[in-house]
Amino acid sequence: MTQSVKTLCPYCGVGCGLEVVATPPKASSKSTISKPAFKVRGDRSHPSSKGMVCVKGATILESLDKDRLLHPMLRDRLDEPFRRVTWDEVGDRIAYEIRSALQTKGADSVCMYGSGQFQTEDYYIAQKLLKGCLGTNNFDANSRLCMSSAVAGYMQSLGSDGPPCCYDDLEETDLAFLIGTNTADCHPIVFNRLQKAHKRDRKMKLVVVDPRRTPTAEAADVHLAIRPGTDIDLMHGIAHLLLRWGHIDALFMDECTRGFSDYVSVFQSYPPELVARRCGIRLDQLEAVAKLWGKSDRILSLWSMGINQSSEGTAKVRTLINLHLMTGTIGKPGCGPFSLTGQPNAMGGREAGGLAHILPGYRMVKNPDHRAELEQAWNLPAGRISPHPGRDAWAMIRGLEQDEVNVLWVAATNPAVSMPDLERTKKALERSPFTILQDAYFPTETAHYAHVLLPAAQWGEKTGTMTNSERTVTLCPAFREPPGEARADWEIFADIGRRLGFEAQFAFASAAEVRTEFIELTRDRLCDQTGITYETLAAEGPLQWPQPDHAPSQTAVKKLEMRDVLERFLPHPTTPVQPFADAEKNDTPHKRLYTNYRFPTPDGRARFAAFHAQGLAEAPDPDYPLVLTNGRLYGHWHTLTRTGRIEKTAAMHPDPFLEVHPRDAKRRDIEDGDWVEVRSRRGKVRLKATVTKAIAPGTVFIPMHWGFLWRDDAEVNALTHPEACPISLEPELKACTVQLVSL
Ligand code: SF4
Repeated sequence: MTQSVKTLCPYCGVGCGLEVVATPPKASSKSTISKPAFKVRGDRSHPSSKGMVCVKGATILESLDKDRLLHPMLRDRLDEPFRRVTWDEVGDRIAYEIRSALQTKGADSVCMYGSGQFQTEDYYIAQKLLKGCLGTNNFDANSRLCMSSAVAGYMQSLGSDGPPCCYDDLEETDLAFLIGTNTADCHPIVFNRLQKAHKRDRKMKLVVVDPRRTPTAEAADVHLAIRPGTDIDLMHGIAHLLLRWGHIDALFMDECTRGFSDYVSVFQSYPPELVARRCGIRLDQLEAVAKLWGKSDRILSLWSMGINQSSEGTAKVRTLINLHLMTGTIGKPGCGPFSLTGQPNAMGGREAGGLAHILPGYRMVKNPDHRAELEQAWNLPAGRISPHPGRDAWAMIRGLEQDEVNVLWVAATNPAVSMPDLERTKKALERSPFTILQDAYFPTETAHYAHVLLPAAQWGEKTGTMTNSERTVTLCPAFREPPGEARADWEIFADIGRRLGFEAQFAFASAAEVRTEFIELTRDRLCDQTGITYETLAAEGPLQWPQPDHAPSQTAVKKLEMRDVLERFLPHPTTPVQPFADAEKNDTPHKRLYTNYRFPTPDGRARFAAFHAQGLAEAPDPDYPLVLTNGRLYGHWHTLTRTGRIEKTAAMHPDPFLEVHPRDAKRRDIEDGDWVEVRSRRGKVRLKATVTKAIAPGTVFIPMHWGFLWRDDAEVNALTHPEACPISLEPELKACTVQLVSL
């Protein structure tokens, strides 16, 4: 009999539902049992994707049996070979190293660098171990490189990190404004939905802002190929015209926001002529886009790394949110600022406190009440959780450089490819006294720098939950045994916790018990998931939060007024703002946040931000005259750990390349197909040139995926720099300056 399991694609934050179909094993002639055969297809019942999948989701099964790390391995020095050890031996050694670090240098010398590939249960147990039991907030995730600017922007402008929108908004909007996102390649199923809606309704407009003519830009009504680093100029120029033309929602601003006058005083110094010149676009293009903002009732903005990975990332996010506050386009169908999450469970990580400045349940490290609530829940002494945010990802590298970090625990991520300024990163990793790498695959580039390898069970081999970009939580059940001695990430963290003496804190018998404890910590918080248990997920399918445990089923929740939930987490309730007439017409309020135009700030009002444009941290100059930008290719995922090993996706994009505009190529005697050396102030790579008008003059593009395991001369991050947004601490991975030398 054929059986199937419904789960979630473990690649990107779109979070498409998958159905894995198993044909049970048959008895062979030798009386042995063969393994079940699995097939994967889109889950038509999943509310986010409705059966659609891209090539990555469709080929995921192939990655399960390629180059898996099967046993714990240990070596004392990086120039020694690994030797196989037992879980007991490696567990005792890790506990010993952590105890030694705590005794000699204190809790700040222990760091964990985790991943948006974690399930929420893995994230949660890691927080309890590091932030609770060990007393250090030195847990950061690769989300720091991906979307921490979105987190900071949402929190500062709206009072909370909850994305206000949902995927149904893709079909309900009049204007989709895509900035800094190649959605067609990076979030293909979101783009599918958007493109279908766009084709169906020619009145709906699609604007794409990107220095590169990507497949996303090809589909747009208007493509603004702005110069890298001029996003804030552009948005201020739009605001300037909206005010000049009177296309603002004064009532919404009066009742629901603060800080407009400060914002006006900033954008008034961005007249459209100046903005068009700075952005490298025509004035009529700027005016056309501002007119679309002015005349559209329902505006949805979408963004990802082009906005977030910037030394002014938070300012960019907040300036984009400003446009929504100014036009009253938030909290309504088809409206709002919508951050497209990179990783499959970066959202779950935020809910579980998976960055160095936050704690589980959308709590903040700096908030004494929040720390006390967790210390009590975790049965730990008062004051155990540090009041100081921990080391962010780059601060861990700096800590290694300065001999301040004794134990670095890396899990489900590959910093030896993905961190900026790779030569510096690698030198820092070489200095690490003790690096643990917990991963499903071997070899990886980061394994080169590890003393310990811990085999991790991955998607399909452990049960847990993941939350996608639209706050939908999906149960991801195990459907096969982990290979070799691999274990779930949360089980490994819990085992080390018990070895360090925290038996009571880590006495979990199953992932379901972990989730039960975690969701209790979301009670009465914005991300309330007390009604999203394994049982409800198994019975009802994926559910969006907030979903308190007293809530009726998702279908019935459609009738629930969102304001009832919001009122409960407002820290300082004030006189309620009168709901606007169209809020009452909102027919699916559970899908969106802020539908009553109240925000979880002390006074219930959203905040305008007033940031001047700063431009790139590294500006072009005569020595390094071109701006390098980088990005993902449709068939590949991050550092190729999976997709590089899958025949179909590897064949789609066999080699990295350099895109250069014909004008820039001609000046340097570069022809299509020539080998070119790309140099920055930090390093160099060697690539074949693709001469194309798809990239704006003055800018070049390299895909981000290749590490030294695949090609030792194509690591884009050999070129990038670590200058980061001072608020979100997200590095400006998207842009640095380079020179080209024809070989
Ligand atoms: Fe997976 Fe993202 Fe593709 Fe959906 S769009 S199948 S989540 S990689």
